[in-house]
Amino acid sequence: MRADLVPHRDCGPCNVCCKVPIIDAPEMKKMPGVLCPNCVAGVGCQIYETRPEVCREHYCGWRHLALLDDSWRPDLSNIYVELKYLSAQDYSGFTAAHPTGLRITLLGELSAEHTELLAANIASLVAGDIPVVLTVAGPPEQMRGALLLNPILKPYPSDKAAFAEALAVVFRACRDLPAQPYAFS
Ligand code: SF4
Ligand code: SF4
Repeated sequence: MRADLVPHRDCGPCNVCCKVPIIDAPEMKKMPGVLCPNCVAGVGCQIYETRPEVCREHYCGWRHLALLDDSWRPDLSNIYVELKYLSAQDYSGFTAAHPTGLRITLLGELSAEHTELLAANIASLVAGDIPVVLTVAGPPEQMRGALLLNPILKPYPSDKAAFAEALAVVFRACRDLPAQPYAFS
């Protein structure tokens, strides 16, 4: 078990990272929103022992962050969290306390419980000047834009009701962002 992963936590039947993100590495390419041909739904990777390096290195935020409990597994919560290095260009509008931020992709409707938990976590990240980017999964082979939340939500973190209201507006704005066909680099 890698030291940077939460002990005794495994993916179970989840295969979100074999479908939702782009894989655009020299050894493997996969369009966003398209299940990898090596993945069998409910079974998992059929080439697990020989899977490419890009897959060996990748684990989602739920596998890294103990504060996200078991209910946050992406296929259960509809929330896909990735730890991301965000460039200075992504920091426009605020000063980040840390170069690594979180990219959160909403995969579908959220339960009331996860909406509240997500709001609390985003409030904490924004208050700590940790960059957090929000997007909504697009249709297959398409990428939707993403919003850097810190400059938008920074005025609200100490007021829970105002923060929840602002976040609801941001969720709607993210869902309305246009999706565009993805092209490999
Ligand atoms: S998204 Fe996370 S929990 Fe799901 S398969 Fe990938 S690493 Fe495992
Ligand atoms: S090769 Fe395996 S681990 Fe990598 S994306 Fe495909 S199914 Fe997932």
